[in-house]
Amino acid sequence: MSEKWVYLFNELDQAEKHVGGDWEAVRGLLGGKGTNLAEMARIGVPVPPGFTVTTEACNAYLASGGSFPEGMWEQEKEALTAIQAETGKTFGNRENPLLVSCRSGAKFSMPGMMDTVLNIGLNDETVKGMIELTGDERFVYDAYRRLVQMFGNVVMGVPDEAFEEILTEVRKKQGVRTDTELTADAWKSVTEKFKEIFKRRTKLDFPDDPYVQLKLATEAVFKSWNGKRAVDYRNAAGISHDLGTAVSIVTMVFGNMGEDSATGVAMTRNGSTGENQIEGDYLTNAQGEDVVAGIRLTKDLTQMKTELPKAYAEFEQIARRLEKHYHEMQDVEFTIEKGKLWMLQTRDGKRTAQAAVRIAADMVEEGLITREEAVLRVTPEQVDFFLHPQFDPEAAKMARTGGNMLAEGLNVSPGAAVGMVVFEADLAEEWAKEGKQVIMVRPETKPDDVHGMLAARGILTSRGGRTSHAALVARQFGKPAVVGVSSLEIDMGRRQMAVKDKIIKEGDWISIDGTVGEVYAGKLATMIPDIKDPWLRKLLSWADEFRTLGVWTNADYPHDARRALEYGAEGIGLCRTEHMFFQSDRLPHVQKMIMADLPIERSEALKALLPFQREDFAGLFQVMNGLTVIIRLIDPPLHEFLPSQVDLLRDLADLKIRLQHAGKLKKIDELLGKVRNKERILKRVESLHEANPMLGLRGVRLGILIPELTIMQVRAIFEAACMVSKEGVDVRPEIMIPLTTHVNELKKQREVLEAEAMIVMEERGVEINYKFGTMIELPRAALTTDQIAEYASFISFGTNDLTQTTFGISRDDAEAGFLIEYMENGILPDNPFDTIDRDGVGELMKIAVEKGRAVRPGLECGICGEHGGDPQSIALCHELGLNYVSCSPFRVPIARLAAAHAALRKK
Ligand code: ADP
Ligand code: MG
Ligand code: MG
Repeated sequence: MSEKWVYLFNELDQAEKHVGGDWEAVRGLLGGKGTNLAEMARIGVPVPPGFTVTTEACNAYLASGGSFPEGMWEQEKEALTAIQAETGKTFGNRENPLLVSCRSGAKFSMPGMMDTVLNIGLNDETVKGMIELTGDERFVYDAYRRLVQMFGNVVMGVPDEAFEEILTEVRKKQGVRTDTELTADAWKSVTEKFKEIFKRRTKLDFPDDPYVQLKLATEAVFKSWNGKRAVDYRNAAGISHDLGTAVSIVTMVFGNMGEDSATGVAMTRNGSTGENQIEGDYLTNAQGEDVVAGIRLTKDLTQMKTELPKAYAEFEQIARRLEKHYHEMQDVEFTIEKGKLWMLQTRDGKRTAQAAVRIAADMVEEGLITREEAVLRVTPEQVDFFLHPQFDPEAAKMARTGGNMLAEGLNVSPGAAVGMVVFEADLAEEWAKEGKQVIMVRPETKPDDVHGMLAARGILTSRGGRTSHAALVARQFGKPAVVGVSSLEIDMGRRQMAVKDKIIKEGDWISIDGTVGEVYAGKLATMIPDIKDPWLRKLLSWADEFRTLGVWTNADYPHDARRALEYGAEGIGLCRTEHMFFQSDRLPHVQKMIMADLPIERSEALKALLPFQREDFAGLFQVMNGLTVIIRLIDPPLHEFLPSQVDLLRDLADLKIRLQHAGKLKKIDELLGKVRNKERILKRVESLHEANPMLGLRGVRLGILIPELTIMQVRAIFEAACMVSKEGVDVRPEIMIPLTTHVNELKKQREVLEAEAMIVMEERGVEINYKFGTMIELPRAALTTDQIAEYASFISFGTNDLTQTTFGISRDDAEAGFLIEYMENGILPDNPFDTIDRDGVGELMKIAVEKGRAVRPGLECGICGEHGGDPQSIALCHELGLNYVSCSPFRVPIARLAAAHAALRKK
């Protein structure tokens, strides 16, 4: 006996057995569409009888270079016989003809990539039978011409325009605007004309043998798997090419058999808001594709309640049934034939981030899924969307129904962007400088385009996938982007792009949604979604129950800290003290401190800075009442606080020219003074100059060389702590030394720090509980954390510097340079500055945690680099057993969810 290639909808059990009961494998075998049709049939949802030819058959067909595997066609015919028995209709029989559709369906949905042929089984004979049976000649010829058209287009490759031209002509001749107004005779003549076109274009007669029709249609679906469109789509979407497509043959049901017939599409919940309310569109007296094609104005599904109440009631029940079965919101296609409802497709519904969150939360309350499932179902990216501008769902819906949605592509970088189309980087930059909003559109991008991409609000490309240059750059700079929009034809010569029949010229407005990968014509209204969304709050509170990793924040100012608290932060993992130094009222004192020649000058400058710092810390402590605040002592090289050498040289040249032209003595004196001052600064800048400041005099090295700096900062911290503690605030400062490489650095700093802390606490008569610790951001520190832990009661990974020093690359240079190429070529899977390099940097972290805790079991370990907000890195931190991740306030909600995912997935 040959292999089984064909499964009737009611043979799902056998398919399961064939693949060993694995549900994913069933979908792989029968495709998403085929599996769901069979599943619906199994749970008693009305599905027209049918069967599915497997992806294995497709793969065998393609591998053999185009012949059906042994036994397949026979099995397909047998399955048809079974359907005949079930329906009482006969394929190709004039009396009561069976008509079927031939539908493609791969494991993963590939929207619009492969095709469907409806009404297979019609020919000049069966048409007559159908007319006798239905008494509706108009309907029958409409169905017949559709077959010729779809068969011609999908199976034989006749361009659809050839058929559409005729339709337009006939409509004009008859003086009507829509197809519904066309008479039976008109459809009859259209059918004839279609057949003529078919013959002219293919040099063949339209096949009147239904079995030939079915055979060729099956083959066409198989072949469409390797069609250019489908291959491009899979390349872009990262879907494997060896999956193959299944073919489902489904008994035709007709929504165009009068006013008690209808066809429609629906979502079991609102896909924009997530509200638990069926949402959809339908048309009475119409066939399936009419709803999607937008040739007729569709009606809102709520209208069906009154128009076809019985069918609607049943539909509502089925929708609930399907949700109960799939535990997911469903996107369905249905047809009502003379009052009888048939389901033609179901799949998980697409939804916005807000809807995803609300649906997950609601389904828990409805008892459909557990809290764990709900938390796992929402992605960190979806939470992220609550923090970015998005298109107003109403505006997007209107654009869609108004035919302004141009195309769909890959959603590679989230957010909504509105701007004028620009096809070239230089122009994008120029227009942006003029204050225009632009969207950079290219077939694909190259390193030369980066300046234009930076100037643009968003990026759109017709080629490329998730790891294309455009996608990587867009994500890196947080620009919304849609790539791989294959239906977009960009004509660089004419400076325009075409999508189907729409032409968009350079300078025209478009809107792109990088969150879902949609492209619209015109300007869509945007809005910032509400982080206080009640469903999001609920979901994140569940996430908090599951996660074991703390989520802290990086905050330098009280307002950042307040925001972070609102987002759910549980501490400050990094307060960068130098940010405070850059403020205009403080910078002069900092510069004075750096320029000081005498210790007395230096200590005066530092004294002037002290009150500022104290105030800053007091503010943070107040906001963070009862929570840890980790304060890092000054980190950057001092030259960063001085003007650049280039600026100074230019200023000096200017001054000298003015000096030459100065007439009055007073002016000359003034200018001379300025020149001397600048020269002094220049000298200091030159003396501070380092070939590689990243590896130079910075971090703890500054504190060692200028202990007064450490003393001032420590004093500010403790004075502030004592002050607010007296106000009744629960202060928990932790002082962190940056860039430690040797334990002796820590020993020295600790002595200075403890002494000063003691003095302040005695002065103020207050006891403050504090911790002393260090960043681990150099490989040597990571490898010697056992020694370090003798002196540090906490460590915090600075994974930015740790990545730079582990890889031996400087971030700024690498990201602007070779890193993109490294990722494009697959040398690096991710940007190591976005996602922690597990094998290298991650290994160092692991060693540090293990060695550190071996010496000091309770060693508090955290991370304060930007990686602390990256879901993949958070998973690694969870595995390493860190106590917390600390990230920017805006990443806190995402980190809460990602930490819960890490905990739940590990279980
Ligand atoms: P797609 O994947 O592009 O949606 P489908 O295979 O779902 O393609 O079919 C296209 C259209 O034809 C849909 O509207 C579908 O509901 C309709 N259709 C498919 N098979 C049948 C059938 N047997 N009877 C009636 N309508 C059908
Ligand atoms: Mg469909
Ligand atoms: Mg650092």
